[in-house]
Amino acid sequence: MRVRFAPSPTGALHIGGVRTALYNYLLAKKHGGTFILRIEDTDQKRYVAGAEQYIKDALDWCGISPDEGPDQGGDFGPYRQSERKGRYADFAYQLVEKGHAYYAFDTPEEIEAMRNAAQEAGNHSARYGVSTRMGMKNSLTFSAEDTKQWLDDEKPFTIRIRIPEDEVVSFTDEIRGKVQFDSGELDDKVIFKSDGMPTYHLANVVDDHAMKISHVIRGEEWLSSTGHHVYLYRFLGWEDVMPKFAHLPLILSPTGKGKLSKRHGKKFGFPVFPLSWNAEKEEDSFIGFKDAGYLPDALINFMAFLGWNPGTEQEIFSLEELIETFTLARINKSGARFDIDKAKWYNQQYIFQMTDEMLADRFKEIMKLEGQEVEDAFALSYVRMFKERIQFLPDLVTQGAFLLNDEVGVYDEKSVRKKWKGDAEAVMNDYVEALAGEEDFDPVYLEDYTKRYLEQKELSFGALFPGLRLGLSGSLKGPGVFEIMALLGKDKTLKRLTEAPSVFAKIKEEHNG
Ligand code: GLU
Repeated sequence: MRVRFAPSPTGALHIGGVRTALYNYLLAKKHGGTFILRIEDTDQKRYVAGAEQYIKDALDWCGISPDEGPDQGGDFGPYRQSERKGRYADFAYQLVEKGHAYYAFDTPEEIEAMRNAAQEAGNHSARYGVSTRMGMKNSLTFSAEDTKQWLDDEKPFTIRIRIPEDEVVSFTDEIRGKVQFDSGELDDKVIFKSDGMPTYHLANVVDDHAMKISHVIRGEEWLSSTGHHVYLYRFLGWEDVMPKFAHLPLILSPTGKGKLSKRHGKKFGFPVFPLSWNAEKEEDSFIGFKDAGYLPDALINFMAFLGWNPGTEQEIFSLEELIETFTLARINKSGARFDIDKAKWYNQQYIFQMTDEMLADRFKEIMKLEGQEVEDAFALSYVRMFKERIQFLPDLVTQGAFLLNDEVGVYDEKSVRKKWKGDAEAVMNDYVEALAGEEDFDPVYLEDYTKRYLEQKELSFGALFPGLRLGLSGSLKGPGVFEIMALLGKDKTLKRLTEAPSVFAKIKEEHNG
């Protein structure tokens, strides 16, 4: 099995492209095959600098790097179509010679006029093809001498495939079964341009053949081109070694209407690209899954399920398990709705699965980026407190800001107003005084100590806890209060709790005043 991912470097790689790469990768690995990256850069007008690097970085980050490609090399290179330029012309001319293709000299205006005339005559799907080509300027309508003259005069031309009349062209799609087209529905696509560059269709077929690709696995949007490709294989004499085709279902918007696009990401505020992209214009830039705090394994697991399912209840699959379980037969025909909540759920599951040590390392990295060095012991206790509470790695920093900074920062003012009343202040002051005599700030000891203290004073938890929590963290929610105390240490704990009454008084005063 030799499969290829063949993106055009026209911009950042959308999540749909990454899923195509993933499915190719999984099948190659399952069958001990080869996963190839081929850069399809024949359309110079749409070339975007940095896009190829983005594609490679995205695959690397996802952990699905190619076996053969522009950076890896391989026996079938080069792996960039612009570097294979010289290989396509011969095939184009060979097709002309055999009568399967022809020169076309029409200007864009003439083609436009043909379309308009056809529309006026009621033919709304008019294209350059079976029904119109004999009214156009091409080597089918010109005499051999005229054609030669136009070529000698170096008039701009294209080479178009000559689709046969009244035929049905069919192929078996590994996902959809038999697919067929009436040849009349297919236009005479341009396969070669006078600038010496092939178009996608010719280059794609020539390269898939030359690179001995066994399975073409790509997005559904290419299904309608496959009729043309089958003709190209036939005309070039390669039909008996034609690759198998599998067209993957579309990824749909969160509402299920239409294809998922960059626009949906902006509208609903979630990433649709693996990595961030910094464009010249602010509005063209975006944050990718990586910088949004997603783990690559979680994203891979999520993407695998966008159009495929294992047929069991199991939802968590490592890459190795996916390789083992994945089959073309279980890919759906219908589109897959993109559900960001599911992606978040996966991320949470994967964070939860990380060992405390791994998570602590990631936490230290994030803190380092913010210019703070964190001790191992602190990092470990810290991540244990938040592991079950976060969906994204950066949540570690935001949720525990009150532990990482000198000050509490934000107080939940509503809770302060509601809970800081009666003898709450007297209870807390007395507790803080007692606590000042304690040296052991281990969470288990602190809990035991506080329980004994409350029993002795015949007080309930409710008399002390709200003030304690609010004074230490600013909120009634969050990790256990004794863990917070332990991590803050004695000095910070006492400082915060001593200052809390005046902070709370001020909050209440501001509200009343
Ligand atoms: N270059 C095409 C793309 O950008 C490749 C389609 C195919 O896989 O044949 O999607």
